[in-house]
Amino acid sequence: MHYSGFDRRKKVLILVMAKTTFKYSNGEVTIIWQPELCIHSGNCVRGLPEVFKSGEKPWITPEGSGTEKIVVQVRKCPSGALSYVMDENEPEIK
Ligand code: SF4
Repeated sequence: MHYSGFDRRKKVLILVMAKTTFKYSNGEVTIIWQPELCIHSGNCVRGLPEVFKSGEKPWITPEGSGTEKIVVQVRKCPSGALSYVMDENEPEIK
């Protein structure tokens, strides 16, 4: 794929900005949210309001639903702002 100079700078900027991540775990799955990628479609809030709560802090509460439902909903995020990792695959932080 060819990027013009402007597109390349824009892509690099997006990748740098996308480094901000927030993680929310229910002990089985960790939801990862990258706010700079969020296009505020509201899909997550409408699809699984027990977990994604607009206007609340924290706005993601994974203990509100089961792991399967969370995974299905996260996969529907249109921008890639949401992703997940199963907790047994998380590298141990020492
Ligand atoms: S579904 Fe993804 S893009 Fe839409 S509001 Fe939720 S996190 Fe943001």
